[in-house]
Amino acid sequence: MSSFEGIGIEAVIVKAIEESGFEKPMPIQEQVIPYLMKEDRPDILALAQTGTGKTAAFGLPLIQKTDTHVKHIQYLILSPTRELCLQITNDLQGYSKYKSEIKIAAVFGGASIDMQIKAIKKGAQIVSATPGRLIDLIERRVVDLSSVKTVVLDEADEMLNMGFREELKSILDKTPKDKNTLLFSATMPKELLSIADKYLNDPVEITIGKRNSGAENIEHVCFMVHEKDRYLALKRIADFYPDIYGIIFCRTRRETQEVADKLLKDGYNADALYGDLSQVQRDTVMNKFRLKNIQLLVATDVAARGLDVDNLTHIINYNLPDEIYLYTHRSGRTGRAGRHGTSIIISNLKEKYRLQQIEKQINKTIKLLPVPSGKDICKKQLFHLIDKIEKVEVNDEEIDSFLPEIYKKLEWLDREELIKKFVSAEFNRFIEYYKESKDLNQPVDGRSSGKGHSESSGFTRFFINLGRIDNLKPATLIGMINDYTSIRNIEIGDIEILNNFSFFETDSDYTETVLQSFINKKYKNRQVAVEVADNKRGSGNQKKRKRQATKSSNKKNKKSGGMKRKKSKAGKKSMV
Ligand code: ADP
Ligand code: MG
Repeated sequence: MSSFEGIGIEAVIVKAIEESGFEKPMPIQEQVIPYLMKEDRPDILALAQTGTGKTAAFGLPLIQKTDTHVKHIQYLILSPTRELCLQITNDLQGYSKYKSEIKIAAVFGGASIDMQIKAIKKGAQIVSATPGRLIDLIERRVVDLSSVKTVVLDEADEMLNMGFREELKSILDKTPKDKNTLLFSATMPKELLSIADKYLNDPVEITIGKRNSGAENIEHVCFMVHEKDRYLALKRIADFYPDIYGIIFCRTRRETQEVADKLLKDGYNADALYGDLSQVQRDTVMNKFRLKNIQLLVATDVAARGLDVDNLTHIINYNLPDEIYLYTHRSGRTGRAGRHGTSIIISNLKEKYRLQQIEKQINKTIKLLPVPSGKDICKKQLFHLIDKIEKVEVNDEEIDSFLPEIYKKLEWLDREELIKKFVSAEFNRFIEYYKESKDLNQPVDGRSSGKGHSESSGFTRFFINLGRIDNLKPATLIGMINDYTSIRNIEIGDIEILNNFSFFETDSDYTETVLQSFINKKYKNRQVAVEVADNKRGSGNQKKRKRQATKSSNKKNKKSGGMKRKKSKAGKKSMV
């Protein structure tokens, strides 16, 4: 097993990164760092999915190699946006926590140039910059690149997209010929290849994971709606996932602002991030988002590029990006550091071809899901509320003095009535809003996706940590699935109850929902754990098994008549 020491990182740096939670190198770091530790370093063209740790891959060696006796710029890191430039600066400052002689300057547009000039004149050895402002400082003769040893181009493709091609050229021309160039990116469009050809000298090519592929732990789902219903669908999604923490991507600044305004007006915890905002506004929004004071960040592709925000649960594509490869960048904002994430696409039938193109690019199926109905949402919200009440911490000291009066006032209500009233006080807004809500699904191939579109896919097999010893019966399990998922028509396949644990299958279109809905559930005082059991079954096999399940379901349904959803199907094994 490799360690940071093992690939040559010095103790003071290891100490700093361990304190920020790094235990061992991530694969891109394992590959890149040893090259950069050599005296005679090759140029590097590194492609890796987002969230794989590219910053430390180039950052750690630079920190270690910096000669602190000289006071001129040795290392230059170029990135497309102010946010990214600052993020890189912060990361590097963290790595060099115990190497106080190292000076890192951030150079980016929209902020006081004087402060940046000061930082450089203090003798910065490392500069993290966006191209525009850097050129400004070069022209003012504040920045001198003639002693630069290494240039890092981070998110190089995005720099091209933002029209920095000429700036890049002019910057690189001012650096020494024998310097080292490192190009980092998550995708490799053709135009970038030509840049690499031109500026990299016989580079070592390092690819982690498949080129342009989406991260493995991201699930991709799609809701088909009519064009005019996009916003309504967005609201349903936000309502269906009460704990959502995510980015909503729009195509234009105007759309970004419009969607954010509407969400705010409708009482959601949202704000917008796009290029036109002043720097102060952008910083405020980003800070709030990182602190989770904002649940939904509405953003353009450029503004959100490369941002590393932890624990995002969802990415929502309010509209598909103009360029297919941007989809990878968007979805890569979630599922970081091995966590599970979902990328949601709100789409309409006209975009079917583009969806297929995306599927090809990410090499994964996009699952078509029904837009949650008003009833689905009410149920989900209601149980979210009940969960919250169950878990809320009671601050006895603060409320004790009020309680006698409150008890007295509510004396006439019995327990049931009291619960009803508390729930309604919080919940009426949803019931009211969704009372006569319509089905938003756009029919696909003559079927409404709301009525099950599962012929195309198979079943997903789940593991659950309950078994015979917990007295788990198929009927109980089906009841749990029905209750927790709140999805109409969810199809249930085989159920296998074993002694200590069990397996069950549901329509794989709902894999994500099933996983999410079993989180934090208890059964007879035991924490329930559900995981995907086995993904590798051949799909042909799955289809066959499913047909069996369907065939046998008629007679099984009689047995399960007491359950909420008649359509639930139990396979052969399950009920015997
Ligand atoms: P990328 O530039 O590839 O998108 P980042 O460099 O922003 O990825 O890293 C993604 C996240 O992973 C960051 O939060 C970073 O702190 C974390 N990270 C990087 N390297 C490690 C490591 N070796 N161990 C644990 N976490 C790491
Ligand atoms: Mg990065």
